[in-house]
Amino acid sequence: MLIFEKIKDLQQSLSLAYSNKRIGFVPTMGALHQGHLSLINQAKKNNDIVVVSIFVNPTQFDNTEDLKKYPRTLEADFKLLKTINCDVVFTPIANDIYNQKIQSESFNFDGLEHQMEGKFRNGHFDGVGTIVKRLFEIVKPTNAYFGEKDFQQLQIIRKLVEKHEIPVHIEGCEIYREIDGLAMSSRNARLTEKNRDAAPFIYKTLKKAKKKFAKKNTYKVYKWVEKKFKEHPLLKLEYFEIADEETLQTISEKSIEKNYRAFIAVFAGKIRLIDNIRL
Ligand code: AMP
Repeated sequence: MLIFEKIKDLQQSLSLAYSNKRIGFVPTMGALHQGHLSLINQAKKNNDIVVVSIFVNPTQFDNTEDLKKYPRTLEADFKLLKTINCDVVFTPIANDIYNQKIQSESFNFDGLEHQMEGKFRNGHFDGVGTIVKRLFEIVKPTNAYFGEKDFQQLQIIRKLVEKHEIPVHIEGCEIYREIDGLAMSSRNARLTEKNRDAAPFIYKTLKKAKKKFAKKNTYKVYKWVEKKFKEHPLLKLEYFEIADEETLQTISEKSIEKNYRAFIAVFAGKIRLIDNIRL
């Protein structure tokens, strides 16, 4: 497994050994878990080489404490990546990536950026767009893999690629869950024991909401979910939205031609967890 910190070294190695080969790329912020590995395994199936980046991108955090406390476990990440025979790991530093100017570009994602996470995390998707665009310029992947765990992000990356005519195929990968249903996340490691025990309630509620969505109107589903969380002693609902998968616009009326998804963000103590389910 090759590890590169410098952009130049990575590019030199890729152009020497892998020009005209299919490069699969999995961008991550590290603190790797099985969810990340499922993306990497998917990438391994359809590419000649897999590049994983580990970079905690400062511009996508609107909360400095969240950035400071984001888990960083580089040595453990390397170990895990070796066990699945990852080819190349790229661990750049912020000054290199941002050319000394740690700032986001400003993007127009046709409104996708104003929904859900965009409402609650100021500038988040400008930060995501900036780093992913930059990483695509550096790695020049054939295929890039993103988790449906961050479904809004996945749709925004698709829009980024389309609008900026970036020649990369974007592949969405299913949400990988713990046995009790909690969506795997690097943030789960920061949950207290009590909150970790409570957290599977999020997915359980999403599954019940899905059943209700099939029979009831959306207003009733919203109200039911809100009530469930009001009654919960540990989990605090930030948002629950039912939205069109394409536009991410929230809906009040169902249409049979469209695909919908329910999205949720919940605080377990200070830790913010997100999840979603196809309806
Ligand atoms: P992160 O390191 O959290 O930025 O995530 C890196 C990539 O892994 C993103 O495309 C995430 O959507 C994806 N990812 C994170 N957790 C999961 C999961 N539980 N299942 C599937 N993909 C995931």
